[in-house]
Amino acid sequence: MTNATPTPVLEVRNISKSFGALQASKDVSLDLRPGEIHALIGPNGAGKSTLIKQIAGGLRPDAGQVLLEGKNVTDLNTAARARLGLGRTFQISALAMEDTVLQNAVLGALGAGGSPFRFWRSALKDAGLRATAQEAIARVGLQDYANKRTAELSHGQRRQLEVAVALTLKPKAFVMDEPMAGLGTEGSKRLTGFLDGLRAQAPILLVEHDMDAVFALADRISVLVYGAVIATGTVEEIRRNSDVRAAYLGDEE
Ligand code: ADP
Ligand code: MG
Repeated sequence: MTNATPTPVLEVRNISKSFGALQASKDVSLDLRPGEIHALIGPNGAGKSTLIKQIAGGLRPDAGQVLLEGKNVTDLNTAARARLGLGRTFQISALAMEDTVLQNAVLGALGAGGSPFRFWRSALKDAGLRATAQEAIARVGLQDYANKRTAELSHGQRRQLEVAVALTLKPKAFVMDEPMAGLGTEGSKRLTGFLDGLRAQAPILLVEHDMDAVFALADRISVLVYGAVIATGTVEEIRRNSDVRAAYLGDEE
């Protein structure tokens, strides 16, 4: 079975979702394979964030399934999916700005809900949680900032901290919605390098507008237009695809 397609880590099967008369996801299928960065691109309003929410568990599809390592997680909420290894970073930062970097990571290690700690200050004293948090912080290169207030970090460092928070749950797959948003050219470049290395830890489904980052990072790209995937392929295949150029990339060049 040397040339067989590897079993996907994450799989979206025939997902549909409507908001009233608007069909925001139209029979969407895609998968995320071990070690890859799979970019999801498309115009504003195409339904990228809506799809990510259905994968992460914040929004229920009308039809279709989400599978994590072959397990159907469609009926599970966000916290349960996170505990099974779905690492999510948010388009809008979910970090507590007045808390330190370490405190945010400990909170992440607690897991989203379902923790025995009623008060997180007692969690902060838990040696196991602290060790997990510190390891994740070091993994993203923020070890020298552990005791800094999160508000003092640069935008790019906050993105890295979000990944550290996700790492504390030992993710099998990452889903990221526009991690480059709001970063300058330098910040985007740095985060691009960081994500490039992160794929060794877990594959990444990456929604991103920054096409330099997408073309530099993606092993495969799927293009979403009006809620439907119109093409999936390598960077070269997508660049050459005439449907994609007409619907989306044409005005980029
Ligand atoms: P993208 O992330 O690709 O820009 P979105 O997934 O945010 O697109 O939105 C897809 C479409 O669904 C848009 O037309 C948006 O206005 C609509 N939409 C998204 N969320 C909701 C919601 N909760 N209720 C109604 N319409 C929504
Ligand atoms: Mg969006």
